[in-house]
Amino acid sequence: VNYQRILDDVAADVVPFIGKGNLARYIPPLTKVDPNQFGMALFLLDGRLFTVGDANVRFSIQSISKVFSLALASARVGDELWSRVGREPSGAPYNSLIQLEEERGKPRNPFINAGALVVVDVLSSHCPRSEEVVVELLRRLAQVDDIEIDVALAEAAREVSHRNFAIAHLLKDFGNLRNSVDNVIRNYCYQCSITMSCSELAAAAAFLAAGGIATNGGERILDSGQAKRVNALMAGCGTYDGAGDFAYRVGLPAKSGVGGGVLVVIPGLGTACAWSPTLDASGNSSAGVAALERFVKITGLSIY
Ligand code: GLN
Repeated sequence: VNYQRILDDVAADVVPFIGKGNLARYIPPLTKVDPNQFGMALFLLDGRLFTVGDANVRFSIQSISKVFSLALASARVGDELWSRVGREPSGAPYNSLIQLEEERGKPRNPFINAGALVVVDVLSSHCPRSEEVVVELLRRLAQVDDIEIDVALAEAAREVSHRNFAIAHLLKDFGNLRNSVDNVIRNYCYQCSITMSCSELAAAAAFLAAGGIATNGGERILDSGQAKRVNALMAGCGTYDGAGDFAYRVGLPAKSGVGGGVLVVIPGLGTACAWSPTLDASGNSSAGVAALERFVKITGLSIY
């Protein structure tokens, strides 16, 4: 298969979608990103990497970080996590408060903000600066030493985290947060402000396509059952209230972030990451989703 040719075709096809939708509005530095960027990377388990467009430009990974914090928490506490977080799609926006109140402080899944805050809380109980553990894992998986947190972005995000504070206070009130609200929000904002490129993210997630084993050096990150389950959660919940539509159009486990990245796992084969900063109504990259849809259409690489 000529994957380079396929990526080139995909990039040409998505031009009409680039710039469609809106930049993430509530985090000031994210509103200053050039909206007319697009990149995509495909990483295969044999180590080959194919890229097109801005695939090596770093962007804010935002909620894509939730995949890696979940992997770390699963490895640490295993099934215990599920007493505090559910595994169902929410059908609601990622930052919604309504369900959390109705369901007495147990978030629907680990990828909406409420669930991700509980995951950060779990990690924070083991390491007070939990984002550092996430960064270290990403550096190891992508084999890149200079993956960093954009501290200015993290501080700006923390400043406007009114909804996330509200969610965290609700969690605390229901007894589902062990650490302080301030610490959990801080660590969450720092973790979301890690910057990486499509190429780096695709390489970092390859263990999820390989039964939990990192492709470089063979480090076991998760057991194969846990890796399968992270993929299942990504498929059901990784693109929020757009998850049904994403399954219909693309049909791969995925995680998006409001920085415009969309990461997908192709079990047994590899990973792909598409990025373009402007978002649809669910907070998923318009051109990113369109690119993955096109990619799957050409290759037939869907799990369904
Ligand atoms: N940091 C963002 C927030 O909490 C992450 C959301 C996202 O990427 N969907 O609002």
